[in-house]
Amino acid sequence: MSAKIISGVEIAKAIRKELKEEVEELKAKHNVVPGLVTILVGEDPASVSYVTAKSKTAHALGIYSEQVDMSADTTEKELLDQIDKFNKDNKIHGILVQLPLPKHIDEGKVLYAIDPDKDVDGFHPVNVGKMVLGERCFLPCTPHGILQMLQRSGVETSGAEVVILGRSNIVGKPMANLMLQKRAAGNATVTLCHTRTKDTDFHTKRADILIAAVGVPNLVKADQVKEGVVIIDVGVNRVGMSESGKAILAGDVDFESVKEKASFITPVPGGVGPMTITMLMKNTVQAAKQATGLL
Ligand code: NAP
Repeated sequence: MSAKIISGVEIAKAIRKELKEEVEELKAKHNVVPGLVTILVGEDPASVSYVTAKSKTAHALGIYSEQVDMSADTTEKELLDQIDKFNKDNKIHGILVQLPLPKHIDEGKVLYAIDPDKDVDGFHPVNVGKMVLGERCFLPCTPHGILQMLQRSGVETSGAEVVILGRSNIVGKPMANLMLQKRAAGNATVTLCHTRTKDTDFHTKRADILIAAVGVPNLVKADQVKEGVVIIDVGVNRVGMSESGKAILAGDVDFESVKEKASFITPVPGGVGPMTITMLMKNTVQAAKQATGLL
């Protein structure tokens, strides 16, 4: 059997089309224009390209966007002052501070400083707490995107054995939490593995849905999964450089061998990646609707 490919590119395109229409309607009927600010500290090339892509996508959807580029020697106070300014700015409904931050800035302090009602990344403890309780909040973008991919591909999660590799705060932990919620794209039985897990293969081999978010290229091989498994590969690993100077990417799953056993699989690139930015836009529209009493 060769797996059906879950294309993040196609699903993201469909969601962006829906969002664009929603933004147009908000503007026409309510005179509301969702606004997003992205704040970048330093010049890390990967971060520069992520922030540029976010601003471009916002623009393409009709979302008002500002990009603030701050030098690598920006002080913590200067960054907190910027956040404070945008917390009070009514044009801005979503604030995104691109991570990682330079080492001299306390990331936790910065994330706590963002108004939870503008925390479109879903990293503020208020939003994390609401997510755990199953209340309305901003869901973290990558896990939110994965839920959409599963739902829109018709993958049944209710009662499924879901095994997640990786326990980061931005992917593994929220993913586990969302999949066990009592609602659509949830109701799964969840196992979360990490580097201290005694027998990871035991878990991966019984997974109906396997979500890999470890950052180790091609870690998961065909002999570690069962026939018919659904594979969501979150990993984005730079494994080389093409002649034209473009990064060659690999996921955490050995795509070529595993696709012969899986029923569904996400590719890298073109899988989870395009969904993450799209869900940021979805959260920004949600933030604008909440701020203007439309939700
Ligand atoms: P992270 O913070 O680096 O954490 C990695 C996690 O994987 C840790 O919990 C670690 O365990 C676990 N781990 C490492 N090796 C393992 C192994 N051999 N077996 C089981 N668990 C193992 O990771 P992250 O930020 O979640 O990112 C993970 C990957 O996803 C990276 O490649 C990243 O680039 C990618 N990513 C992609 C997107 C996207 O939009 N496509 C978004 C976010 C991240 P310990 O906790 O025990 O150390």
